[in-house]
Amino acid sequence: MWHVAIIGAGAIGSPLAFGLSQRPESGEVTIIDGDQVQLSNLARQPWYEAQDVGQGKAALLARRLQPDVAPVRLQAVPHMLTEDNVDGLLSSADLVMDATDNWETRLIIQDWAARHHRPWIFNSAVRLEGMSTCLAPGGPCLKCWFGATTSEGPRCFEAGVLGSVTLAVAGQALRLFDQWLKVPGQPSALWLVDGLAGKFRAINPGSLRCHHYGIG
Ligand SMILES: [Zn+2]
Repeated sequence: MWHVAIIGAGAIGSPLAFGLSQRPESGEVTIIDGDQVQLSNLARQPWYEAQDVGQGKAALLARRLQPDVAPVRLQAVPHMLTEDNVDGLLSSADLVMDATDNWETRLIIQDWAARHHRPWIFNSAVRLEGMSTCLAPGGPCLKCWFGATTSEGPRCFEAGVLGSVTLAVAGQALRLFDQWLKVPGQPSALWLVDGLAGKFRAINPGSLRCHHYGIG
């Protein structure tokens, strides 16, 4: 049985949690998010309702998506992921799926993944564009793809994001999850979603090898 952790229970995290809850292979799924439901979330996060405003997202999502019969078990952690709690919260995670809205948290996940030699699936959606890739030990890391410094881009709650882009990114992430189940350890291409043209594009990592953590 695998243990998959989803960091974030928003516009990408909720469809991800739904997709994983429908896959028996998911095993144990932990949803980590310290946020509460806000009225502005409802348009892009249809798993929450108006009566949920003010309640913790992670617990709501875990409760609503828990299948009756499937062997998948959903659990919630009502905290934001930080440098201080990452090792404890992710200690038994085989794979982490990023559904955050900021680069600071993604770098915490990346450093954890490098320290413990675990894979993770990076996801991002801002305005009309989205990205997904599976980052495996030995392959390119987040810093290889985007640079070692956090040139913090706009966050989706400040810049806005198209609902179809977050759903497309979540769908692509679930496809990367299925691929990881078949061939664990395989780094993937970087998938770009163009929400305006309605197209996906893949950038192959080629011979890109990580030199940030002394691996590869
Ligand atoms: Zn690297």
